[in-house]
This record gives sequence, C-alpha cells and structure tokens, in this order.
Amino acid sequence: MALWTKAVNMIRPDIGEESVDLWLKPVEVLRLDNNVLWIKVPNRFYLDGIKDRYLKKLLSILRDLSGVDIELDYEVSKDLKNVLPKTDPIAQPSSQLDFSLGELNPRYTFSSFVVGASNRFAHATAEAVSRTPGTQYNPFFIYGGVGLGKTHLMHAIGHAMRHQHTRSRVLYTTSEQFVNEYVTAIQHSKVDDFRAKYRSLDCLLIDDVQFLVGKDRSEQEFFHTFNALHGIRKQIVVTSDRSPKEMSPSEHRLISRFEWGVVADIKPPDLETRIAILRQKAIAEQIDVPDDVIVFVASSVKSNIRALEGSLVRLKAYSSMTGSSLTVDTAKEILKDALSHEVSPPIDIETILKVVASRFQVEVRELKGHNRATSVVLPRQVAMFLACTMTDHPYTEVGKHFGGKDHTTVIHARKKVQRLLEQDLVFLERINSLRSEIKAVENA
Ligand code: ADP
Ligand code: MG
Repeated sequence: MALWTKAVNMIRPDIGEESVDLWLKPVEVLRLDNNVLWIKVPNRFYLDGIKDRYLKKLLSILRDLSGVDIELDYEVSKDLKNVLPKTDPIAQPSSQLDFSLGELNPRYTFSSFVVGASNRFAHATAEAVSRTPGTQYNPFFIYGGVGLGKTHLMHAIGHAMRHQHTRSRVLYTTSEQFVNEYVTAIQHSKVDDFRAKYRSLDCLLIDDVQFLVGKDRSEQEFFHTFNALHGIRKQIVVTSDRSPKEMSPSEHRLISRFEWGVVADIKPPDLETRIAILRQKAIAEQIDVPDDVIVFVASSVKSNIRALEGSLVRLKAYSSMTGSSLTVDTAKEILKDALSHEVSPPIDIETILKVVASRFQVEVRELKGHNRATSVVLPRQVAMFLACTMTDHPYTEVGKHFGGKDHTTVIHARKKVQRLLEQDLVFLERINSLRSEIKAVENA
C-alpha cells in the first residue's frame, strides 16, 4: 500500500494532478505477493488507460523504490466510488509567453469571400465593421457551424483594418490561445504585461469563443479585457459555433454582452453559392474544372465549405497526376469516399448507448440509470458527449434517451468530456475509435 502511494506521489509531478485523479485514484491496492503488486481497477477502460500511459513509468518507479523488479497484476471490479475529478481542471499552458499580434491568413480576405444568401448579412456587417470600427457594430458576434467561413470573415476584417491604418493594432487569437497565454502569464508573473498588451489594441478578434466557457479565471479575464476595450470604443469581434440563444446559462453569462452589438449568423451555403465558391476556388488554384463537374460537386457536397475545398484539392491532384481532363464520372470515382460521408445516415442514440456500454462493460440500463458509481459515471458522460456531438438532437432530447435526465446534466457531461479530450491524447484516441465503431455499427 505504502509502496503504491509513494509511487503515485513520484509520478504525480510528471503526469499532473488531473491525470492522477482520473487514472490512478480509482486504483485500489490489493496485496504484494512474490514481487507482484495486485491492484484493482473499476473496469477495462481504466486498465487499458493505465497500461497505455503509465505502466512503464510506474514499473520503473516501483523498481527504484523497492530495489527489486516488481510486476503489476490486475483485478477488474465494478464497485468503486466516483473517480472523476471533483474540481474543475485548470488549463495547462502549452504555449510560451507571446506578446506579438496574431498572424492573419493572407488568403482570408474580403475579395476571396463569396457572398450568398447564407452569409450576406454577416459579410455586410463585417465590411461595415472594418470601415467604422468601434462604433455601432461593437461587439460583432458571428456564429455558425464548422467550415462555413467564420474565421475567414474575421481575418478579412483584420486585413481591412490593418490596410486602412497601418499602425492600427489588430490582434487575432483563438479563445484557446487566449487561455494558454493568460495561464502562462500568471505562471511567469506577467499578468500586467498580458493586460497591457490586450488593452492597448484597436481591434480584438477572438475566434471560437465557446472554448472559454468553464475556464473560470480566463473567462473573468476576458470580461475585464472586453469591458476595458469596449469602454474606450475599440472594436471586438467574436465567433462561436452556437448562437447566444443556444447557450447554456453559464455560457450565456459570457455571451450576453455580445448581444450589445450585432449578432450575425452564417448558414450552410445554398447550391448557387456553392457553385460560385467552387468556380472562384478553381480559378484561384488554376484548375480547369468543366461546368458540369462543378455542378456535380456543388450538388453532392453540402455540409460545409471546407469539404467543398477538399473535393477540389482531390480533383486537382487527380488531374495533375493523370494529365487527363475531368469528367463527372471521374469526379464521382475520385470523390467516392468523401461523398459517402455526405450521405451517411443519421446516428441513432440507442446505437451510441449500445456501443459505449459494451466498450465500458456496463449495461445500457446503467447508462440510463441514476447510479453515481465510478464505473458508470464516466461511460455515461462519454455516451452523452457522443450523443451531443454525433447527432443533431437538442440537449433535452438527448436527456430523454438517458432515462429522462435534465438538459443541464447533458451539458455538464459534454463539457466534462470535452475538457478531458483536450487534455489527454490517449483519451481522445479512445473517443475517436468509439466514434468509428458507432458509425460502423450504424452502417452495417
Ligand atoms: P469556420 O471558421 O466557420 O469553421 P473557415 O472560415 O475556416 O470556417 O472556412 C473554411 C474554409 O472555407 C476556408 O478555407 C475558407 O476560406 C472557406 N470559405 C468559407 N466561406 C467562404 C466563402 N463565402 N467564400 C469563399 N471561401 C469560403
Ligand atoms: Mg474557424
């Protein structure tokens, strides 16, 4: 017992408190028997997790501590207490202190942005903002799904402002970078510098603000930054994947002040806009794509503009490799994989429940139940997370599939798992393999 505790204490600085809480706290030491240390873990998920990540390190620590080679052996139990960390994890800094202004992508300009019904208002407002920053469109909040042009528009504003006033201090950052930078600043006692940098801006562009939610201190800092800049009429532009109305109360606290200004959404582009975008990109990339192929691709790839671009890249690779001109038939063949993704059937939450239950070795009814035992809580939260991210069902609907749970429970689970994903690559891999498994079951 003491040996294990010592080993955990030694590995802690290496792997961090959060990982210790998640992976090693649930371990129960059974006995030391002929240099075999027997431990008990809640289920196979933990066992694999510990083996993948920490086994080597643990064994070498155990050898150092005891002077003999120790092996670990396992029993899997199902009756341990809640293992999930009780406190909110603190974001780990991954970047060094950076007091420069963020880079803008030279391709993301107003002139390369194709305007259609789906983005007309957002585009017009973005232009107005860049002409008269800090006035009536402040803050400017853009929301919409993945790959629909939010980042592009935001950079376009930045370019236009830098172009009009070469001295104007425009900063582009993602909310994740903002968090990292802030945490790093705290650690190096450079918070004053951090504030000086952010409060001296003429325009602050913050991308994907939804990731700030729940990171309490950074969120606070962002409030202060926001208020400071807004107070002296400096422009603020924010993007998010959801509208203010779709946010949970804690998100709403963050978002409500964005409604002081202008809110614009970007919808998926209609067919005409998709055609126009493809034409424009084909010209920019100097690919010769016949009109019927353009129309074919535009009618097949509907989900987002990034996918449209991806299709064009493939067509380009093909035509430059073979030197032959593109036809609708070859395009069909080349894009087969990408297109199968487009038409994939909607995922059933019950399938998610089944796959998650079997992977975590729990029963579906346990996932739907209210038991707070260790071995059920994490799988339940994972299943809720997947139900939120793999389907279009609103939170309340997801809750219904889990034995009538409240939408706040679902939101909490989603965030919890999202946070773990961001901090733990092995966990991320597992979730991704769960996703593939669920899709495979659905398509079977
Ligand atoms: P989001 O930030 O909403 O996820 P991005 O701004 O990264 O999306 O856009 C994804 C890709 O699609 C980028 O390469 C961008 O240039 C392109 N794109 C998006 N909207 C348009 C548009 N209206 N016209 C031309 N290209 C676009
Ligand atoms: Mg983006």
